[in-house]
Amino acid sequence: MIESDIDDRRRAESLLLGEKQLLEMAAAGSSMSDILVALCRLVETTSEGCYCSVVLVDPTGTRLEHGAAPSLPATFINSIIGRPVNADSGPCAMAAHLNEQVVAANLTLETRWAAHAWCPMAMAHGLQACWSTPITSTMGKVAGAFAIYYDKPRTPTREQQDLIAQFSHVASIAIERSQSDTALKQSEARKAAILDAALDCIITMDHEGRVIEFNPAAERTFGYPRSEIVGRELAAAIIPPALRKKHRQGMARYLKTGETRLIGKRVEMTAVRADGSEFPVELAISRIPLEGPPSFTCYLRDITERRRSEEALQRSGAFLTEAQHLSKTGSFSWCVATGEIIWSEQVYRIFEFDQAIPVTLQLIGSRVHPDDISLMKDMIARVSAEAEDFEYEHRLLMPDQSVKYLHLVAHAIRNRSGQLEYVGAVQDVTKRRISEEALEDVRSELARVSRIASLGALTASIAHEVNQPLSGILTNASTCLRMLAADPPNVDGARETARRTMRDGKRASDVIVRLRALFGKRRFSMERVHLNEATQEVIALLLNELKRNRIILETDFDDCLPAIMGDRVQLQQVILNLVRNASDAMGGIDNRPKRLIVKTERDTGSVRLTVKDEGVGFASHDLHRIFDAFFTTKEAGMGIGLSVSRSIIENHHGRLWAQPNDTHGASVSFSIPLELGSAGNHELNANWGPATRDQAMRSL
Ligand code: ADP
Repeated sequence: MIESDIDDRRRAESLLLGEKQLLEMAAAGSSMSDILVALCRLVETTSEGCYCSVVLVDPTGTRLEHGAAPSLPATFINSIIGRPVNADSGPCAMAAHLNEQVVAANLTLETRWAAHAWCPMAMAHGLQACWSTPITSTMGKVAGAFAIYYDKPRTPTREQQDLIAQFSHVASIAIERSQSDTALKQSEARKAAILDAALDCIITMDHEGRVIEFNPAAERTFGYPRSEIVGRELAAAIIPPALRKKHRQGMARYLKTGETRLIGKRVEMTAVRADGSEFPVELAISRIPLEGPPSFTCYLRDITERRRSEEALQRSGAFLTEAQHLSKTGSFSWCVATGEIIWSEQVYRIFEFDQAIPVTLQLIGSRVHPDDISLMKDMIARVSAEAEDFEYEHRLLMPDQSVKYLHLVAHAIRNRSGQLEYVGAVQDVTKRRISEEALEDVRSELARVSRIASLGALTASIAHEVNQPLSGILTNASTCLRMLAADPPNVDGARETARRTMRDGKRASDVIVRLRALFGKRRFSMERVHLNEATQEVIALLLNELKRNRIILETDFDDCLPAIMGDRVQLQQVILNLVRNASDAMGGIDNRPKRLIVKTERDTGSVRLTVKDEGVGFASHDLHRIFDAFFTTKEAGMGIGLSVSRSIIENHHGRLWAQPNDTHGASVSFSIPLELGSAGNHELNANWGPATRDQAMRSL
């Protein structure tokens, strides 16, 4: 008994020593595997026929991994490793799964783990009992299982249970230590990789400002090898001399009071390279969260390129602004889907809005001239529906009642999200428009004056031509009277003067006939006329004038219109006259779009052209008079356009008529029969064109 007590004490002492050695191994950094092997061996010395193993739970917590089993056959251990951590695959898997001890005192009687035939496998290796105990970490997580096997059926005694508890704990220390070592190594490796790969300079320094870390990007940027700078004061190496004092003071203040202008912020400053050259950097400093004297990480980025491109951008922005200002042209973008409108500074200036105001269509509408609002709405509706480049002119009515003329050009694009967007330019063309209008006024005044002047000249020359024979007639008549009143009457003389009177009378009538011939008649030139083409030419001629008058011109041509026979120039004169009249009729309209439609169509046996406007229309009592020569309601009108037009159309065997529209304005139409016969030599009445008039003057 005493002997066995002594044995027990010796065993306990040697176990205590063994445990101490195991803990020393852990402290000295021995590998986990070595410690676990030593642990198994130590426990195996406690009794005959005892074998130990440690299995680990893999990082995912689902499978068993090898730990140590120095005395068990490899075939046995290999059949355990890789088994799933659950209650069915064996005692260790079950202990790890349930986090409780599993005791199988007699494998021959054991019914558990039958599904995996664990007991027959263990018995085939000569094992009869197994006690498996979970190894838990300090956090309570199961890290593995510590198993003791016997070659005979056995139940653990109390002392053995204590032993198991003690050595499971040692195993858990070894495992945890190894795991944290691995984690530390991994984190160190990751950190080193980050430092190496970082494009920015990462420098760490201690509380005295001495460099601890200097990554490859810092080496490249500053031109110092790491070995040369570590341990040196950072400020002395990379801060320009003029700023060093300030930096040191800031550091000292921080260490004393915790007050800082730098830490946790991004600042831009100047740094200096090993070769003394200075360059701009962006800097962020953070304090490393460690106990003891503070240390810091500095992130530095060379921003030379960024500064350069910022400056270039600023310069080109300034150029653009100046150019826009000088040319009175602003630029804009308008995303149709989101309604977002962006204006350049100059557009704000043109519209005279504060740049802080967000731009909306409503805001723009508040400046657009009331007469142009419907035009603008039309345009917006059209270009919102489908992508098409557009160009148009409209006016602004400014708060001081002045009017600005804008010319707008926009190009349709698709933005990154595939949405329709317009990018364009707005030019203030007020000055140009005003001078154009002034020029136009002068031109039409000139035309009116020259019309009056040439009529005056014509009248004077007619008067002169007719006056001569008339005064001859008067002189002859009075001579004749005098001769007849003489006593005796001079009959022969009177006869002679009467004859001369007749001759002068004939001369006067000849003048009139010649005038008629020259003014009133010209050759009719017969050819095939395509009315659509002829009309298009007239429109091209009038386009500028119509645009100036803000007329919205639409054409509605019958593409299958047959050609007619006629005098192309004369028909074009008629069309020109009708379009001009329609444009004149809409001159004073400002509450609706000035829409003008030119339509061609086929009628039974004829072709028809209609010019429809939305102008003032006719007063009902004027409707039958408008074709009368010299009827005009216009200040500068001559009143002969429609009468000449009617005679031209009638010479083509056609018809010219006018009718009021249902809503606004009037429609004036003519139709020409398709069968004109062989009328090749029509004589046409008065065409008071300037060329004819000049010829008349010359021949008179
Ligand atoms: P003028 O244009 O020189 O006045 P016209 O013979 O072409 O000569 O026209 C005669 C008149 O007929 C015009 O002054 C105008 O009163 C009327 N008129 C012609 N066309 C139209 C029209 N489209 N709408 C309203 N009135 C018209």
